[in-house]
Amino acid sequence: MKIAFLSESPADEAVLRILVEGALKEKPTVASAGYRARGWPNVLQVLPAVIRHLHFNTDVDTLVVTGDSDDSPVHTTAHDAPQYYHPHCRMCQLRAVFRQTGKRFPAAHGRLRVRRVVGVAVPALEAWLLCGVEDSVNEAAWTEGQARGILPYTRAELKLRVYRTERPSLPHEIACAVREAERHRRDLRRLEYDFPGFAALLRDLREPIPEIS
Ligand SMILES: [Zn+2]
Repeated sequence: MKIAFLSESPADEAVLRILVEGALKEKPTVASAGYRARGWPNVLQVLPAVIRHLHFNTDVDTLVVTGDSDDSPVHTTAHDAPQYYHPHCRMCQLRAVFRQTGKRFPAAHGRLRVRRVVGVAVPALEAWLLCGVEDSVNEAAWTEGQARGILPYTRAELKLRVYRTERPSLPHEIACAVREAERHRRDLRRLEYDFPGFAALLRDLREPIPEIS
């Protein structure tokens, strides 16, 4: 398996690598996505170019993409209905880019298309990092808070709890993020249960690579 990652920052990518390795129980070959994104909506903007590049210029078979939900609506199972698309949901947006970009590509490098693996961290990746440490931090709590108009925590609070500072340097951010991600590596079940935006990523990862029939 050859994997490329696209996410909002180098710290996010370090976390994703660990979680994906944990899910696969092996170290996949990691390739460059050819582009780097900085925050949302940059991930969404460069994604079509990344898919095109990987499909035609590389033998990468899997592209893992994540973003933070921030203040956008959280993806629900209702969005998974066929033909449904929520225009402001980032999971729906990322999946739609995969669908639309790869639609007319001819098969290349022995596969029909690059396998789509998409996750969205609600409301930010730091929530995944706090999973299992702080019981109050989970996707349902955030979604309920959004519905009531009283959020259970802010993204800044989550960052402060993980990094112990409001303005972490990138090396410090990566070190803290990797430490927490390593906690999840051996057993992803809690993260999968508490964060459906991560469970969706795992489901995509279990799908077969689209082969030429
Ligand atoms: Zn959605």
